[in-house]
Amino acid sequence: MNFRARRTKAARAVSRAGVDGLLVTHLPDVRYLCGFTGSNAALTLSGSKAVLFTDGRYTAQAKAEATGTRVVIAKKPAVTAACESLAEAGVKRCGFDAEQTTVALLDSMRKAVPAKVRRGMFVPVQPLIARLREVKDSDEIAKIRAAAQLGCQLFDEMLEYLRPGLTEREVAATLEHRARLAGAEAMSFETIVASGERSAFPHGRASEAKLPRRGFVTLDFGVVLDGYMSDMTRTVHLGKAQSEEREVYDAVLEAQQVAVSAVAAGVTAGDVDEAARSVLRGAGLDGWFTHSTGHGVGLEIHEGPRLAARQTQPLEQGMVITIEPGVYMPGKFGLRIEDMVLVTAAGGEVLTPSVKAWIEL
Ligand code: ZN
Ligand code: ZN
Repeated sequence: MNFRARRTKAARAVSRAGVDGLLVTHLPDVRYLCGFTGSNAALTLSGSKAVLFTDGRYTAQAKAEATGTRVVIAKKPAVTAACESLAEAGVKRCGFDAEQTTVALLDSMRKAVPAKVRRGMFVPVQPLIARLREVKDSDEIAKIRAAAQLGCQLFDEMLEYLRPGLTEREVAATLEHRARLAGAEAMSFETIVASGERSAFPHGRASEAKLPRRGFVTLDFGVVLDGYMSDMTRTVHLGKAQSEEREVYDAVLEAQQVAVSAVAAGVTAGDVDEAARSVLRGAGLDGWFTHSTGHGVGLEIHEGPRLAARQTQPLEQGMVITIEPGVYMPGKFGLRIEDMVLVTAAGGEVLTPSVKAWIEL
């Protein structure tokens, strides 16, 4: 495990941010830094020291999971105990992630420390740990790879199962049941099954609608293995397609493949977005491509980097991103194709190699 290396990087980021400690309350960040998976935790970093605060329900689990940190089982809210201990340790300026801290939480953080140090004690900083998490280490890449592979295996099985007349909900239930039997801890997010006209909903929740005799079915789903998520989308056609359906599919597939080929360390996220968008523009379809091209994936389903227009952030080796252009024509049909891609020195490695060529069932 690489927790020590992660905390060393975190300590560097903390000092670069001009603070002498960091309060971490976002649970995926806590897990990333020490391995603890409980539902109530706060973690403090100051210098090279990390302390995990949780409650009595997690005494045994924290001992078993937390690596290299002192564990404090608090009788009061974990955040309160964490803030008290930061103040006692003499931390004068403690950073916190403004994106993960509610006004109410900040209020309780302030109340936890003595009035004489309260002023200037808590300093909002950029999401330092989320930023570190964008670049995956080898341990994380192995876990993400396994989750992506399981996703592909499930999709291949679904090809044998999909047929007209099944409800979208039955399809989602079958997929999720098989995922759990195959070892998934959970689904990464609510499974999307959108068929027929509903395929024009970019995030069509599986409904009671029946799969049509002729039309698209979009499956967008992911599994969680060892805390790490997968995310993939495939769109298949039931019955014989109309030529417009086939043309739009081919354009989305080309956009997706061109964007995957554009992935490389040093290329900006905006350039990859533009690679997909320009293909659809050339086909006169960009007006129907209403979302961004992709996002990072890891302990959370949506992480940085964001692959959207004008994003100047360069991709880095070790990032895991999705490439998922789509076209949605309300009242007609829609489709999306999504892969997970690992940014490597040489370019991009697709982690979800399930077939993307036109499938007619
Ligand atoms: Zn997805
Ligand atoms: Zn996605």
